[in-house]
Amino acid sequence: MEFGGYGALVVIPILAAVGLAEAFVFSRQRHQAFPWEESLASIGVGVVQAIKNTLTRATVFAALLWVWQFRFFTVPTDTWWGIALLFVAVEFFYYWHHRWGHEIRWLWATHSVHHSANRLTFLAAIRLGWTGEISGAILMFAPPILLGFHPVAVFAMLSVNLLYQFWIHSEVIPRLGWIEGILNTASNHRVHHAANPIYLDTNYGGITMIFDRIFGTYQAELPQEPCRFGLVHPLTSNNPIRIAFNEWIALFRDVFRSRDARARFMSAFGPPGWSADGNGQTTADLRRRAAE
Ligand SMILES: [Zn+2]
Ligand SMILES: [Zn+2]
Repeated sequence: MEFGGYGALVVIPILAAVGLAEAFVFSRQRHQAFPWEESLASIGVGVVQAIKNTLTRATVFAALLWVWQFRFFTVPTDTWWGIALLFVAVEFFYYWHHRWGHEIRWLWATHSVHHSANRLTFLAAIRLGWTGEISGAILMFAPPILLGFHPVAVFAMLSVNLLYQFWIHSEVIPRLGWIEGILNTASNHRVHHAANPIYLDTNYGGITMIFDRIFGTYQAELPQEPCRFGLVHPLTSNNPIRIAFNEWIALFRDVFRSRDARARFMSAFGPPGWSADGNGQTTADLRRRAAE
């Protein structure tokens, strides 16, 4: 807690300064107004998420320590090779958790909050869902712990991963040459946050693009295809509560309207945009229609 308190004293002024610098560059470079209301909404969503995390941390940690006793190996994370393995493991499981966050609606209900901003600014990085605990967070944490990485080490490496991702949420940082294909950059992450059919469900990596390349989800930003940020159905509300529960409301509405058990199941656990008539708005549907 001590560290958290002092950390916040240092981090908050830095984030505020970086955010203001971006607003200045944004309006000069784009000749458009900076999205202040949306940025304030992101702060609101982020602050509640941070408070929620503080309140649930002890319970989540107790659950993960319980998982730890069933581990298959024990990796010493005080060695260089242990830390290197931890980096790769967290990157790998982050990739899959993030990918399922886009492919499974129950997980998307939480992750879609992060994608709901219609402009990409640094502050969009802290627009994070409040319901991770019921939306598959255990799928991210349990596998590396079972492989022998201590819960504290996994938490620490995931924090590094998320901290890294702050700077990649921006429209004002240009493409950066050869590192685009290796590291996660602002350009790669713009693609990830874009709703253009060609860009949907790509670039899931945290710090690197390695697993996107291996599993075929890498997509470079194309000069002829400017990013349209936000959700397929843009969310215009700047009310943090509406932002946090928008997809959950839609999910349960679809479940209750479903005619049979299969449709109920698919409305909750199928891909986002699934529809019983096969003519919905999944990424596959949208790509097919764009190609027609
Ligand atoms: Zn995402
Ligand atoms: Zn993001």
